[in-house]
Amino acid sequence: MGQTDRVAVVKYEGPVESSRRAVDLSGGLDRLKPGDKVFIKPNIVFFAAAPFPKWGVITTSRIVEDMVVLLKERGIDDLTLGEGMVSLKPKDPAMYESAFETLGYKKLEARYGLKLINVYTRPFKEIDFGDGAALSFNQDALESDFIVDLPVLKTHAQTGVSLGIKNLKGLIDIESRKRCHAADTERDLHWWVAHLAEAMPPIFTLIDGIYSNERGPSFDGKPRRSDMLVASADVLSADLVGSALLGHRPDTVPHLGHAARLRGRTPTLDGVDVVGESIEDLASYHQSEFPYNEEGTLPGPMAKMGVEGLSYYKYDTSMCTYCSAVNWLVLSAIAMAWKGEPFDRVEVLTGKRMRATPGKKTVLLGKCMWDAHKDHPDVDRMIAIKGCPPMPSTINQALHQAGIMVDPAVLESWAQAPGYFMKRYGDRPEFEESFFRVD
Ligand code: SF4
Repeated sequence: MGQTDRVAVVKYEGPVESSRRAVDLSGGLDRLKPGDKVFIKPNIVFFAAAPFPKWGVITTSRIVEDMVVLLKERGIDDLTLGEGMVSLKPKDPAMYESAFETLGYKKLEARYGLKLINVYTRPFKEIDFGDGAALSFNQDALESDFIVDLPVLKTHAQTGVSLGIKNLKGLIDIESRKRCHAADTERDLHWWVAHLAEAMPPIFTLIDGIYSNERGPSFDGKPRRSDMLVASADVLSADLVGSALLGHRPDTVPHLGHAARLRGRTPTLDGVDVVGESIEDLASYHQSEFPYNEEGTLPGPMAKMGVEGLSYYKYDTSMCTYCSAVNWLVLSAIAMAWKGEPFDRVEVLTGKRMRATPGKKTVLLGKCMWDAHKDHPDVDRMIAIKGCPPMPSTINQALHQAGIMVDPAVLESWAQAPGYFMKRYGDRPEFEESFFRVD
């Protein structure tokens, strides 16, 4: 059995030594040579002012610092940490300054010479996967000798799980991200995500499971303290094990299936040498999808509220991260606007695949839905929100036009949303703030 198939599963017990055990057991840094240029990819997703999203959303600063220490011990001085967060102003330094300062990365910069980058302000290089399929990747990562990939152990509402391979999506440019959320049902999100690791230098993956997350990737999921680390020199093997630990058979996760086929493997644990703890002892089921009613026409909580006269169809994989972020606010605003009177046969279409139903008042959320319907014979009766992503003020106007009297303040409350969710964990001692600091 080749070393690249070895995966270490380790209980997290404390700073540096748990990560060291994961590295040593997996042999994950054995290919590293002193003087190598190393790129560290944490998972930050999105950042907002305090209280910022953390448990099960962002890689703990504990694990980032551990890895920097372990790399320095191996004679690595050329260290870069980079991320491309979800932001309406991707090149704006403010969100990065705030994230890098708050998460303690600035201390790592001062102490260890770690370089910090916003990937959107750096050059991208297009990588062609054949058959006209290409994505543009951050050049610093591509040109490094080695990647240290630090995802969070989480499920994902669209991709089933979000682990080492999916974490690399933070290295592609915005156009490429939109391309991944394709309308095509064969070359769909799963197909594109499976290609993300293909052009990368050698990768060491350390999945941070100090906190895991149900219905990730963001703060509206349900985090739990799981205290485990998964490490491997083979990103696919790490993800197969991570998926099993989240209670999802790896062969049921479409992008892992595609990634395995790209490597001439099967998406199972056959041939993966798991060392350390056993998967059976630590696995626990984490739901991935947000619940909807049986017909897929309303989110579970809205169906329970008895909302009538509205079809807000279940999201599909063609809805990009930017529209997903907006979508969550639109649903919240509509739920709050419900006063018990049926809405007037309204439907809301999202992503790139949905199509209007005759006889309904159709709201087209986002430029893609407008593009898909602008030549429709009934387009005049549709209400279009054309932005990419759609902006709160135009969403507000459109919903009012459809007779749904949402509060515009709810649609504008994106930056405050993490604080609302983080409050749930404030009095639970297992949710420790200190994991997201560097002392
Ligand atoms: S409108 Fe939405 S789904 Fe379409 S490309 Fe823009 S963000 Fe993606």
